Amino acid sequence: MLILGLQKTTLLDFPGKVASTIFTGGCNFKCPYCHNSELVIPPADAFAFSEEEIFDHLIAKKRVLDGVCITGGEPTLHKDLPDFIKKIKDLGLLVKLDSNGTNPAMLRGLIDNGLVDYIAMDIKNSKEKYNSIACMKNFDIKPIEESVSILLEGKVDYEFRTTIMKECHDSSDMIAIGEWLKGAKAYYLQSYKESEQVINPIFSPHDYDTLKDFVNLLKPYITNTNLRGVD
Ligand code: SF4
Repeated sequence: MLILGLQKTTLLDFPGKVASTIFTGGCNFKCPYCHNSELVIPPADAFAFSEEEIFDHLIAKKRVLDGVCITGGEPTLHKDLPDFIKKIKDLGLLVKLDSNGTNPAMLRGLIDNGLVDYIAMDIKNSKEKYNSIACMKNFDIKPIEESVSILLEGKVDYEFRTTIMKECHDSSDMIAIGEWLKGAKAYYLQSYKESEQVINPIFSPHDYDTLKDFVNLLKPYITNTNLRGVD
């Protein structure tokens, strides 16, 4: 595991839980809007935490923590993620995983082995426009489709979520996504926040009314569609 960040306590990252958040290094996507560029393309001199440092913290704080959120970067790029999570579960802590859905085999294994309690999967856009955001070489939508299907089985608590940008998402994308994720347990639309810290600051946010219109377009497909982090 390449662990490049640790937030010792958060009430925001794991719904309804007190958690620590662990940030893994490296991602196979290069979303221009990504705020974690130093995790996606780590600098050569990036400080990395040892597993020992992480577990020293978790053991010391496990009485006040409900769980651990593992985010990135893309955590499923790390082949030893299941072993790492097993050690967290052995401490009696819950585990939430954030993923871009490109490793359905690992998601399946984590779910089948009871190693994950909540998965949040990014949906970048409608299938046709997916890689205009993901910017992945040799992109293939099939692993993403497979991960969506695995979560829709409902064997683990989950959510889908999309960061919405004026240049990328329109009403027809919302309908296409709604048809794709139909019946999902929860779907959140998050508005893009302009920043010079992102990988490539080329996008801008939709206005609030447009975001509300998108939610209303999606509700016939996914009843539990909501805005998140939008004032
Ligand atoms: S998938 Fe997530 S971590 Fe990777 S580049 Fe996109 S926003 Fe950043």
